[in-house]
Formats: sequence, structure tokens, C-alpha cells
Amino acid sequence: MTHRLTSAAFILVLLVLWLGSGQANAVSLTSDWLEDPGDRLGIGEVMALEAGDWQPFAAEQVLNLGFSDGAFWVRVRVAPEPVNRVLEIAYPLLDVVDLYWVRDGRVIESHLTGDARPFANRPIHHRNFVFLVPSNTEPVTAYVRVKTQGAVQIPVNVRTSTGFLAGEQLSYGWQAMFLGIIVALALYNLFLFSIVRQPTYLWYVLTVVASGLVHLHLKGILFQWWWPELPGLNRFITMPFISLTVVAALVFSIQFLAVRRYSPVSFRLLQLLAIAAGVSAVYGLVGPYQSSVVLVASLVALATPAAWLIGIYLWCRGQNLAGFYVLAWTPLLLGHLILAVSKLGYLPRTFLTEFGPQIGVALEVILLSFALAYRINLERRRRQQAQEHTLEVQRQANQTLEARVRERTEELERANQRLEAISLTDGLTQVANRRQFDTQLRTEWCRTGRQGLPLSLLLLDIDHFKSVNDRYGHLIGDDCLITVAAICANEVQRSGDLLARYGGEEFAVLLPATPEDGAEQVAERLRRAVENATVYPGAQEMAVSLSVSIGVATLVPSPDEPSGELIRRADEALYQAKGAGRNRVTVYRGVRSVPAADR
Ligand code: GH3
Ligand code: MG
Ligand code: MG
Repeated sequence: MTHRLTSAAFILVLLVLWLGSGQANAVSLTSDWLEDPGDRLGIGEVMALEAGDWQPFAAEQVLNLGFSDGAFWVRVRVAPEPVNRVLEIAYPLLDVVDLYWVRDGRVIESHLTGDARPFANRPIHHRNFVFLVPSNTEPVTAYVRVKTQGAVQIPVNVRTSTGFLAGEQLSYGWQAMFLGIIVALALYNLFLFSIVRQPTYLWYVLTVVASGLVHLHLKGILFQWWWPELPGLNRFITMPFISLTVVAALVFSIQFLAVRRYSPVSFRLLQLLAIAAGVSAVYGLVGPYQSSVVLVASLVALATPAAWLIGIYLWCRGQNLAGFYVLAWTPLLLGHLILAVSKLGYLPRTFLTEFGPQIGVALEVILLSFALAYRINLERRRRQQAQEHTLEVQRQANQTLEARVRERTEELERANQRLEAISLTDGLTQVANRRQFDTQLRTEWCRTGRQGLPLSLLLLDIDHFKSVNDRYGHLIGDDCLITVAAICANEVQRSGDLLARYGGEEFAVLLPATPEDGAEQVAERLRRAVENATVYPGAQEMAVSLSVSIGVATLVPSPDEPSGELIRRADEALYQAKGAGRNRVTVYRGVRSVPAADR
């Protein structure tokens, strides 16, 4: 976008240079001037002056006579030509412009005009001072008395009426375009302000309106159309209005560039200048006009380049918007430069000196309006980035949370598994506990019953265990229990078989799908293993001999019978084994169980 704007500005400058290259329809003149420091001379006395009192000046030269309390006289001799012509003094801010047409040493026509006099005094309703040359056939001389509180500039020219009219079209076209740009941008940014509610836009609108009005006023247009009956107002408009423009532009610059954030020193400087401009606005209303002009001119000469340089400085410090700002401020700076230099009389009057300042203002306000639009874009992007960042942070937080939940869940699962294992295992012997045994018995009871398979149960009780306890103590007794469990676990390894501590010093072995003789063999193997084991419980030097009695019961479970029947039978068989002398296996046999050894 910057690139496009730069090329647009370049094309405009080319156009301006081209337009400024010609000054058509000028009529050659013999002109001279003199100063009347005490403002004492009337037209009669001036006409009577010697030739030596006058100083000649070239037609294309703008008389720049500085500030003076006195009056100046300009004499323009117009030779006869067979076309209608006008004499124009193209500086509308002169307080007093009295023109006397003299032919053959006699005043034939006079007009008392100037911007301190009502607009109606002008023979031609025009923002500049324009007078018809009264004769085409005889030589006439214009005597013009100029008196003003501001800078005395007297740009005189005589042109054919047709040339003047043609130039006028162009000139008014430019003024209309300038006004159009000002109005459009002011309204557009006023709307923007009403939406975004940022004071920067309002200050921009104020800057645009104020500088637009100032430049239209400098062209004499406001007086012509707004208050032609109130010439007294002119003296109080120019300087206060220029000062207010400076205030608005500086406050806008401060806000737009966020100067305070990037450079407190620059902020102070711009703030001081803005305050000075405010004071100067008041001074323009109440103070003497000449010193007010000096004050305002110095302010503009200081503030414009200061703002431009600060723009560049902030740009270097990373304020992106400052690039736009500098770009916009450059044509304004050039415009002011052209204005100043032309006022000093160093530049010939061309299109550039005429319209340069206004073009500068127009370009400035257009480019700044772009910059404001760009700022909206920039802020939107910044907001978007912030939003994305927030979302990203949220996403990461969610991820962390999920991971933590997963971790906790896994931990919980492991703990549950541990708890389940604990709840199903006997704490002392580490074989299955009674609870697991009961569950498994119910399950196998149903399963083998469904399949029509036999289910066997061994109930195993350590013989004379009370005396082991009595002799060695409970701790040794516990060790013996652990050892017997380990011996049994070693023998019961077929998958589906379950060894459980049934209670106290009793163990149970559940053997699904195992017929009676198979169960008996397992029982016998267990009995022998315990009998043959040499047990050294704890720190015991001496071996403890242990034996077990085992009751065996086998059933093909039926749904009508409770699983407790199997336990009851095994228990009865065990009881008989004990009764038969212990250290033996007894198989349940109906009413009377038979010890294995007896069969
Ligand atoms: P028998 O079975 O041969 O008739 O004689 P017993 O001495 O083993 O008699 P009973 O089965 O009635 O006694 C069980 C004894 O086992 C009672 C108790 O002192 C002991 N006992 C039971 N549970 C434990 C235990 O967890 N640790 C220890 N150290 N001893 C236990
Ligand atoms: Mg017992
Ligand atoms: Mg016992």
C-alpha cells in the first residue's frame, strides 16, 4: 500500500510541476512603487511626485515589502490594446487596497477595497482584488494604495479578460477539489469516530477541518462567501485559526503515534508546542496583529519540521505507523516550505507557489486517512493474535489436564488392582483367601455342573498345631503356616486349580473337572510333601515335623444342590481322617467316609 501511495504522490507532484510551468495571457507592464511611511499622501500628492521618488519593479516579481505601519503605493501603466483586460492583485489578505484609474492626469475611476472593507466595495465579486482596465484605446495608469497589518505582498498582474476567466476556471476547480477532499475526509473520519470512539479520529477531523478552513481563508474564499458584510472579522480569524490547526495537528500526532510510549522527551516537546499554539490562538484574538503573525509563523516553522523529525525518530524506534505519518507529513512540510519561501519573495509566482500548500495539505490528510485505516487493520491483527494466543494457552492447559487425568486414572487402576489382589489374598501365606475361595467355588460349581464334570475339594488341616504353637510360640506357628502353604502351592499348579487358606491352620484345594481318584492322588501328594518336608521355622535351629490330615470330596454339581454340600462332605472326610489317627487322606463315601489307606 505504501508503494502505491508513494507513486500517487509522485504523479501529483509531476502534475503540479507541469501546471506550474506556464503563466499565460500576461500583459507586459511598466510598474513602480513607493513607500509612504507616515501614511500622509493622498492620490493628488502621489500623482504629483517626481519620477525619482518611484522605484521600478518587474512585472513577474511579487512585491514583498515586509511589515509596515505606513502605506505603499504601486503605479502600473497599462498601454492600449484592443482587448478587454483586468488588473488583479492576487493576495486577498491585504487590509486596504485603494485603486485609482488615471487617464491624461485625471482620476477617472476609484475603488476603495481591501479585506478590512465590505466585500461589496469590490467592482468585481472576486476573492482577490480584480479591476477592469477602463480603456482599450488610450494609455491608463493604476495607482494602488496598499496598507495592511500583515506582510505587505503586492502580486500585481494585468491579463486579458478571457485569459483571466480561463485561469479562474482552473483555479476554482482546484479550490473545489480541495474543499471536496476536506469535506469527504472529515465526514468519513467523523463516521469512523462515531463507530470506533477513539479520540484520535476526532482530532484528525479537527485537524482536517481547521487546516482546510485556514487555506480557504488564505485564498479569500471564506470572506467572499461566509461573511462578506463583516470585514472586521478577518483580522480575528487568520492567526487564531492557524494556531488551532497547529494544536489539533499536534494532539493528533501525539495520540496517533503513541508518542508518550515511544519517546517521553518527544512527547514533552510536542505537548509544549501544542500549549504554545493554544496560547498563540488566544494571543491572535487579543494581541497586536503583527506580533501575532510573527508568533504563528515561528510556531508553524518549528512545529512542522519537529513533528516530521519525531515521526522519523519513532519510525526508527519501531513505531510502524510512523512510516505512514512521515509520508503524510512530507508534502505538508514541503507545502509550508513553499509558502514560507514564496512569502519571502524568493520564488516567482507559479502554480506551485499558488497551490503547493493546499496540495500539501490535501496529500497530508489523504495519506493520514489511509494511515488511520491501516491502524484499524493493525489493531484488528493484534487482537486476532491475542485471541489466538489465548486459545493456544487454553489448548495447552487442556492437554496438560487430560494428561494428568489419564495419569491419575492409570494410577487409580493400578491401586484398584493392588487392592483387589489384597482383598483376594491371604495376608500371611500369600495364597488365595477365603473370600476368593468362596467366589471360585460358586463359579466352578456352576461351570462344572453345566458341563457335567466332577468337582473335587480337598480340606487340609495341620495336625496338632496347637502344640506347635504352645511349644514354639505363635510367631513360629505362623512361619510353619507359611511353609505349609508354600509346599502345597508347589504341588497345586494345574491351571484352574485353587489353593486357599480356609481359616486358621486349614487349607482348601479346589480341583475342577477332577474325578475322585485324581483328587485323592493330589491329596496324597500333598500329605507326603508336608510329611517329608523339614521345616526350620524362623531362627529355629531344630527342625519341626509337621503333618496334615486331608478330607477329599468329589461331586458332579447339580443346580438343586448348594455348593456347601461339597464343603460339608470334605469336612466330614477330614473329621474322619483326624479320627483315624491323622496324617492321612480320607475320601468321603456316602454315610461313612473311608480313609485312603484302608481301601
Ligand atoms: P488337630 O487339628 O490335629 O486335631 O489338632 P490341633 O492342635 O491342630 O487342633 P485345632 O485344629 O483345633 O487347633 C487349631 C489351632 O491352630 C488353634 C490355634 O492355636 C492354631 N492356629 C490357628 N490359626 C493360627 C494362626 O494363624 N497362627 C498360628 N500360629 N496358629 C494358629
Ligand atoms: Mg483345625
Ligand atoms: Mg489342626
